Amino acid sequence: MKILAIGRNYADHIKELNNERPDQPVIFTKPDTALLKKNANFYYPDYTSDIHHEVELVIRICKVGKNIDERFAHKYYDHIGIGLDFTARDLQQHAKEKGLPWAIAKGFDGSAPISEFVPISKYNDLDDLNFSLKVDGEVKQKGNTSLMLFGFNYMVAYLSKFFTLKKGDLIFTGTPKGVGPITIGQKLEGYIEDEKLLEVLIK
Ligand code: MG
Repeated sequence: MKILAIGRNYADHIKELNNERPDQPVIFTKPDTALLKKNANFYYPDYTSDIHHEVELVIRICKVGKNIDERFAHKYYDHIGIGLDFTARDLQQHAKEKGLPWAIAKGFDGSAPISEFVPISKYNDLDDLNFSLKVDGEVKQKGNTSLMLFGFNYMVAYLSKFFTLKKGDLIFTGTPKGVGPITIGQKLEGYIEDEKLLEVLIK
């Protein structure tokens, strides 16, 4: 399986990092070794001192597809979960300045905690879905899918031009504003609507 991710998909987050608003989705990948499942603890690595949380909805591909038409894209994912796109902001900043790839800054071990997946049919309106992140009990990030620059179907269609999508592939769909540093000892909790689906302790 592979993990595809979209950056800069919420205007309010683009603003907070002083990034440019993209004409097309900004795409990066994470290796499968980035996944952290079953609410496992995250151990802060020593090669960065500025990891940020980015809470994101994650959709799961349910069948193989290539050059998918946006009109049919909804048939290619049927589960959704919540994940964290942990980003080593110091390494990413260095890479941005030098024009280097984000592979390490975004793809290090444990940089993709994810929840269990739930059937999309559970939710009435995918275009109006709330999600959020609490850090030590306080809401730090809040998003709603209506605020995405590129919607799920557009994303699936766009990605499938370049990458054959396969069953089990995951797509991280971008973070809203409120990203910030994590520190050892914190508890992070991810919610879709009012349901807590993810909990990660920073060790
Ligand atoms: Mg992100």
